[in-house]
Amino acid sequence: MISLFAPLRLRLDGAALLSNWRWLAKQGGGAACGAAIKADSYGLGAAEVMRRLTAAGCRDFFVSNWIEAAALEPLLDEGIGLSVLHGARKEDMAYALASRARPVLSTAEQVTRWREAGGGACDVMIDTGMNRLGLDWRGDVAGWTQGLRIETLASHLASADEDTPLSALQRERFVAVKDKVTARRASLANSAGICLGADYAFDLTRPGLALYGGVPRTDAAEHIRQVVKPQAQVLQRRRVIAGDTIGYNATFTAPADVEIAVLNLGYADGYLRGFSGRGAAVTEGQKLPVLGRVSMDLLAVDVSALPDIAEGDWLDIDYRLPDAAAASGLSQYELLTGLGRRFDRVWA
Ligand SMILES: *Cc1c(COP(=O)(O)O)cnc(C)c1O
Repeated sequence: MISLFAPLRLRLDGAALLSNWRWLAKQGGGAACGAAIKADSYGLGAAEVMRRLTAAGCRDFFVSNWIEAAALEPLLDEGIGLSVLHGARKEDMAYALASRARPVLSTAEQVTRWREAGGGACDVMIDTGMNRLGLDWRGDVAGWTQGLRIETLASHLASADEDTPLSALQRERFVAVKDKVTARRASLANSAGICLGADYAFDLTRPGLALYGGVPRTDAAEHIRQVVKPQAQVLQRRRVIAGDTIGYNATFTAPADVEIAVLNLGYADGYLRGFSGRGAAVTEGQKLPVLGRVSMDLLAVDVSALPDIAEGDWLDIDYRLPDAAAASGLSQYELLTGLGRRFDRVWA
């Protein structure tokens, strides 16, 4: 058989993923630690992440919608929960009622529909101040949800990655609702919320970003390991003569002769134009700056200092998430979820 390899790959560090999950679990004290695996586990590949975390003892997973749930349902072992954060629309009901995944009901309509359909265990989302999804904390949540078998009562923090009184306020509001509603478990904290302390963990936490190497608060930086390392192959090495320009719109002019490597990576792969002139490849600890604009499928890096880099070599892309976010102007979330389909995803 003739095999074909992509000219770009994501190295995914399975040990780092587990180390991050264990650290987050520990921060939650006695709370169970789940995992947000929506958006294909933020671009890493949900099936593989779920398999690895399940093997490590994770029992609670979160996706956004039923298309995502359906893809993972065949992998659900006994005793593993999968919650669908966007609840159940009318058009989801037939599937949801037959599914082993649970909806996270977030509107009065969803609650009524689920109850009238005789749906089984469900989760319920309370809005405590983000004004995104959830039953309003000021309302009669206990009355609205009467008769439901609630597995997890949840709310979501808006700004846990900042120091703001809003987090404590949301927590207070959540506790007030929780005291009046019968649910098996309560869950409030995402990655950043976990870093606010065990007070925020309740019975179950829902980290996403930090599992995948994102640093939600600077105090967590030393504990979170990088999971995702993009690599791209050198398609061509060339010499750019002083005064010549590189790439679209000629945004970089070589002040002196420069040697560049043209890599198989571009904005169609999620390496967006914000990295133009600001990103870098790295090899042997040496930074190789991106010169000129990132194209759709290509970019150029400066390899003047490394005469041995040649056509066919692989270079690591500098993708430590807090640094890459600062360089590109993208959030750490966008840096992960934007990673495209053309990478070979290679777990080690
Ligand atoms: C995405 C999401 C999470 C995970 O958030 P991170 O900031 O990535 O840790 C948790 N809970 C809800 C409701 C979410 O939508």
